[in-house]
This record gives sequence, structure tokens and C-alpha cells, in this order.
Amino acid sequence: MAAGSAIQIPSRLPLLLTHEGVLLPGSTMRTSVDSPRNMQLVRSRLLKGTSLRSTIIGVIPNTSDPTSDCDDLPSLHRIGTAALAVQVVGSNWPKPHYTLLVTGLCRFQILQLLKEKPYPVAEVEQLDRLEQFTNQHKSEEELGELSEQFYKYAVQLVEMLDMSVPAVAKLRRLLDNLPREALPDILTSIIRTSNQEKLQILDAVRLEERFKMTIPLLVRQIEGLKLLQKTRKPKQDDDKRVVAIRPNRRINHIPSTTEDEEEEDHDDVVILEKKIRTSSMSEQALKVCLKEIKRLKKMPQSMPEYALTRNYLELMVELPWNKSTKDRLEIRAARILLDNDHYAMEKLKKRVLEYLAVRQLKNNLKGPILCFVGPPGVGKTSVGRSIAKTLGREFHRIALGGVCDQSDIRGHRRTYVGSMPGRIINGLKTVGVNNPVFLLDEVDKLGKSLQGDPAAALLEVLDPEQNHSFTDHYLNVAFDLSQVLFIATANTTATIPPALLDRMEIIQVPGYTQEEKIEIAHRHLIPKQLEQHGLTPQQIQIPQVTTLDIITRYTREAGVRSLDRKLGAICRAVAVKVAEGQHKETKPDRAEVAEGEDCKEHVTEDAKPESISDTADLALPPEMPILIDFHALKDILGPPMYEMEVSERLSQPGVAIGLAWTPLGGEIMFVEASRMDGEGQLTLTGQLGDVMKESAHLAISWLRSNAKRYQLTNASGSFDLLDNTDIHLHFPAGAVTKDGPSAGVTIVTCLASLFSGRLVCSDVAMTGEITLRGLVLPVGGIKDKVLAAHRAGLKRIIIPQRNEKDLEEIAANVRQDLTFVMASCLDEVLNAAFDGGFAVKPRADRLNSKL
Ligand code: ADP
Repeated sequence: MAAGSAIQIPSRLPLLLTHEGVLLPGSTMRTSVDSPRNMQLVRSRLLKGTSLRSTIIGVIPNTSDPTSDCDDLPSLHRIGTAALAVQVVGSNWPKPHYTLLVTGLCRFQILQLLKEKPYPVAEVEQLDRLEQFTNQHKSEEELGELSEQFYKYAVQLVEMLDMSVPAVAKLRRLLDNLPREALPDILTSIIRTSNQEKLQILDAVRLEERFKMTIPLLVRQIEGLKLLQKTRKPKQDDDKRVVAIRPNRRINHIPSTTEDEEEEDHDDVVILEKKIRTSSMSEQALKVCLKEIKRLKKMPQSMPEYALTRNYLELMVELPWNKSTKDRLEIRAARILLDNDHYAMEKLKKRVLEYLAVRQLKNNLKGPILCFVGPPGVGKTSVGRSIAKTLGREFHRIALGGVCDQSDIRGHRRTYVGSMPGRIINGLKTVGVNNPVFLLDEVDKLGKSLQGDPAAALLEVLDPEQNHSFTDHYLNVAFDLSQVLFIATANTTATIPPALLDRMEIIQVPGYTQEEKIEIAHRHLIPKQLEQHGLTPQQIQIPQVTTLDIITRYTREAGVRSLDRKLGAICRAVAVKVAEGQHKETKPDRAEVAEGEDCKEHVTEDAKPESISDTADLALPPEMPILIDFHALKDILGPPMYEMEVSERLSQPGVAIGLAWTPLGGEIMFVEASRMDGEGQLTLTGQLGDVMKESAHLAISWLRSNAKRYQLTNASGSFDLLDNTDIHLHFPAGAVTKDGPSAGVTIVTCLASLFSGRLVCSDVAMTGEITLRGLVLPVGGIKDKVLAAHRAGLKRIIIPQRNEKDLEEIAANVRQDLTFVMASCLDEVLNAAFDGGFAVKPRADRLNSKL
């Protein structure tokens, strides 16, 4: 030590007895003091003393448990280190104690213990004296070699450490500046050594011995470091890469674990900034992002806003500002693809092709948004997907059903906790391109709430004039949506807000006829289901009659979704049989095989394989298809859910069949009426809307005014139909709200039947609005209504004369099965609804009753 020669320690030293850690000259140690002797020493020497000499104490290491030695002084180590007490900190918790910071000055040896209480004091002899070495020339040469060797190892060790750490750099400088003699003590206290080793170094009073003992410790440390570096090599490469990205990084602290994490985070921010700069976001967005990243750098990461800002920036980087797929549109290919994917729906396909053709001719089309309106399961979503496929674009479906908060569309402002972007921006992030096909599903089911009107938010999205600068509240910068192709679907236009409707071109997708459903089932649904269930056409056979059975007896819908589900159920059941058959096949029974072969021949000859019900317990050979006939159907799907109940329900007067249009397609509707004694009141049940109630009143009024003409009387024979009579009209499926004028003719027919006591023909259904003067006015939804009547097996349909043109839309095969009666007034309706017409002449029994 440079100051070593100048240090002259007092000949009497108070002794601090430590039992952990060994203080070596030139190093510093923090030690806790809590034994009575040591506490006393601190109090009376260090805290009361005023001179520098009073702060020099002798530290004796390796004293056995100094806390328990109250009376007898334990045996003391002979050699200790004279030390300067640099700092004393007292504390009362958990028990009174002091923490001392001491710096070692030089070695000393105890000559004689002068007193033991209250703390030990000894007469000592200073051992380290620099003059000793300089005077001994012989040993200096030898020492020179030793110290040179030591110095080399020391340099090697320090250079293996990370020189960017300031403490290491300082140590490197110290190696050159300190006298060589001081190095063994200092390095021993720095490198990893045990207390025992340190004690040996302390005891090595002769410098030569000290050098000799320290060199192996240095070598051991060097080897250890080498091994460590070998195992960490790949990680270091990573670090280098990061460092390469941030060459200007300032290094001004010693790394610790938490600081490492902070460093890592800092790296992430730098990487994020780089991503922002290299991303192709708009100028406005770039400006905002750079501002945010500047804030982020200054923010402590424990701040909640840190995570928010980071999420925001990450989203901004991920958004496809300038990334798009290339359109590959070829109308002929598109037509083939649409035809291949979908059977029927000619009108829809035609309009879609027109739309695509215009897009092909004129890029950047600011055309209207297509909106497919129709019952569920008619393929609206599936056509949307096909459009994306024909264009080679990404497809994303946004379900709007039940959305009643405008921030669902436009996002939350970032000031809210848990704020996030709206569905449009989220969708763009998911697909990763800026020109996908977005299918806005169920726009008719958008809700409204206190949180604003989502339909209004959609306006901005869908308006081609505005959507090139759509501003999501979360992003707070404009994003160009003009490349996105929006397609909407809805079940009805009635609940779509008018402003939204105005921006869309409505394409009606009506329900399917039974024949179309059969074709769709056999061309698309069955092959799809077979594939999903791992079956082949060699294993299952569903003839068209069975499909028709499923359609008429197990489903009643405009689309094909339930049909698809039923087919799925059948496939599951067959899959079990086939799997069982394969299992048994592994150890075939001779008789079975023979029978199987027989059956196979049978199939080829008669094309009539065994049905599943007949062979339920037989293990079928795999080549033999399982035929799904009506019995098998009953086995799998249970008894039929819908029977032809029409004729049964029409076995009483006062019942007629109307045709209704609902968002789920057309439906047949039984209207029932009964009369009873009363005061001329009309009761209506079945959740009717105002228009329907008015139709009922109209019908009664017309009948009352024409009662004489038709000889209609009440129970007491009066032509005043409501005299002492109450009428109850009921529209079944009472839980479903019904409205619209088209039930007018049905109510008239039903009441005419009630008051005439005659039965309405069981195979006739009708629709049409009435006026007070008995005219029949046209109504909407004729195609769906006709299909519903056809599904229900009705034969004759009465429609308003002015709806005749709508019949052209109906497939020829359906038209063939039905007879249409065009009515322009109620007389014609009644004439067609009753067998043999509705005669104007009086009936004999009525006259009799009058007598
Ligand atoms: P929607 O969106 O109208 O409620 P989906 O598009 O989900 O109905 O159609 C339901 C299922 O019916 C889909 O699997 C679809 O492939 C099938 N499908 C409907 N119509 C047709 C059709 N014309 N041709 C082929 N498959 C169809």
C-alpha cells in the first residue's frame, strides 16, 4: 500500500472480535456489531472518541461466536488487521446493534492482552512495513519475478471481466498504479475465496509467501471464468446484436438483476422505435408515434401508462398501413367458382358478378356496399367468403348482432382504463392487410344504448366518401379503409337504420324450394359432411327420397342449416357403425364374409343395399354402403318432428290458412276464430301489431256490411253478426309478434267460415291486404310465402291479382305443383276458398231454424 509506509498504528489497540468475514489490508468490510464487548467498544471508543487515532481499532477475525462469550474471553487469533472505522450506523430493530464500515490498514500481531473488560485491549506490533522489503535486495529479485507473475494473472483476470462496467475499469487502472505488494491482499478480497483462504493470506506475513499463496487463487478464478464464458457464448452473441443496434448506449452504472431488466426494456423500446421508423405508416401516424415513444423513454416502467403507451405503439406498428394483397380477378373464373360453391341463388350470383366485373374494369371502385338480406342458412356468409376467394383477398367476419356500444366499432379513447381499438381496426390487425373482405354480419341486429349508436359509427366506416380517413378513437389518427371491401348481411331490412340502409345495395336472398334443398344437400352438404366425418360414398348412401324426408319431416326452415345439422347427425351415427364394422373385420367370421359378398352382388344387381336398421346388429363389410332409408332415419333422428297436420286442423269451421313472411323465411299460419254469447266484442290474441288488428276490424266490418248478401248470421239468426255475440280471433305461435296487412283475406275467410258453418278447403292458403270495400291489394314476400305453402304440401294459393308478376321468380317445378288463384276482390277469394264456391243464396237449415 502506498500509504503503508506512512501508517504508524498505536501500540495499544482496542480489539473488535468478528466471527464472519476476514478484513484484509486495503479492503473495506461492513460488519454487524451486536455482542456486548463489541457494542461497548463502539460506544466508548468510536462514538465518544474525537481524534483520528481513536477511530483505529484492531479487527481480530475468526473469533468463535462472540455473542455468547459474556465472561470469558475466547481464544483470539494471533494476527489481525488494524482498521479505520469509516462509518458507524446504529439501529434498534430487531435488537440494538451497530453496523460498522471498516477499512483495513495493515497487519498486526497481538503481543499481550492488556485488559479484557469492558472490551479487550492489547499491546500490538505492526507487521506490514514497506521498508522491510526494499532493504532486502536478494529477496527483491525473487519477489520481482513472483510479483510480475502475479501481476500478469491479475491483468488477465480483470480483462476477462466486462470492461464496460466502471468498477472493472477502475480496478484495471488500480493494477498499474498500486504498489505490487498491496495487490495480493486487495485481489484476495475481490475474487471468490473462502474465509479460510482469506485467513491464510492474513496469516502470511511474509510477502513472498503471500504472493505464492494468492497466485493459485487467481488461476482458479480465471479457469472458472473461462468455463462460464464458454457456456454463455450464444447469449453473448445476442447481446452483441442488441449492442450493435444501439451504439450510443451510455454505460454509467454497475449492472444488477433489476437493472438488467430495465436495460432489456430499454432495448425493447429502442427496437420498437426502429420498427416505427421502418414501418410504412402515414406521416400523421408517424408523428404521433414518435412523440409517444419519446414520452415512453422518459416514463418509469412501473407507471400504468407505460404499458398503455407501449400497447398502443405495438398496435400501430402491427397495423397494415401499406400492406395489401394483389387482386387477381377474372370474371370467368369467378363465375365458375361461385357456381361450384353454391347451387341456385341465380339472382344473387348475377349481381355479385356484375359488381366484380365493374371492379375489374375500374379499380378503386367507390360503389355501394352490398347487403345480402334473407333468412338464416341461405348462404349469405358463404357467398361473402367465396367473393373473398375469387378476389384472392383475406376474409374477416365481424359479427354485429347485439352490438350496442359505438366504441365497439370506433374503439375507446385511450384515457379509459382497458381501452382498446374497435372491431374494424382489430380486424385489420388480425388479417394483416389493408384490403380484406369484411363481412358485417347481422347489421339488422345492431342495438342502441346510452353508449351511443353503433349504426351511426358504421356510417363513417361504410361511406366511401369518408372512410379513407376513418379515425378510431383508440388510434386517434386516420386510417384509410377505402381499400376494404365491405359486405353486409341481414335477415330483414325493417330494423336496419334508414341512414345505413341508404348506403347499401340490398340483394334479397330468398329461401330455397324443396328441390333446390335436395340439390344443395347432394352437391354440397353431404360431401362436406362425409369429409368431416371421415366417411366415403362407399360407406354411406343417402338417396334423394330420404333427403326429401329430412327436409319435410325433420326441418321446417327457409335455409339449409338444420338440414346440414341433421345430415351431420346421420353421418355421426354411420361413423359408429363403420368403426364397429372395421373393428369386427379384424377377426372376420366366415359366415359374415360370405354374407357380405352376397350382399355386394345384390347391390350391383338391384342397387338396393341393406338399410342400417335391418343390419343394425350385423357387422357390415366396409365395401358395403349403409343405406339411409326412412326406418334408419327414424332410428337416428327419432320420430318425425313435423307432420302434415293441415287437413286435421281444418276439420272445423272457423279456421283458415294464411301465409306470412318472417325474417326466417315464409311460413304458413292458421287463423282460428270462435264466437260466443256476449256484447259484440272482438278479442284478438297472438301478439298482433297495430296493422294486423286493423285488418281484423276491417274484415269484421266488411262481413257485417255484406252479411245479408252472403246469408251470414250469428247464433240467434240475426244478420247483425255482433248482436249478442263476441268474437275471438287467434293467431297461433302466440309468442311471436306478428304484424302486417297481408292476413286480411285470411281473416275474412276464417270469419266467413265461422258464420256460415262451412269448412274452408284443406289444401288452400291465401295472402292479401283488404280494403273496406272488399278489394284485395298486393303484398310482399310472395316467393317466400309460396315456398312455405309448397313445403307444407298445400295445393292451391290465393294471391292478389297484382302480385301475378312475382310468380315469375318461382321455379317452374314449384309452380307446376301448385294452382294459383288471382283475386282482385273478396268475392273471388271466398269463392276459391270454399269447395263449390261461396254461394250467395240462402241455406235451408238457416231458414228452418228461423221458423
Ligand atoms: P347465412 O349466412 O345465410 O345464415 P351460411 O352462409 O352460414 O348462411 O350457410 C349455411 C350453410 O349452408 C353453409 O355451410 C353453406 O355452405 C350452406 N349453403 C347455403 N346455401 C348454399 C348453396 N346455395 N349452395 C351450397 N351450400 C349452401
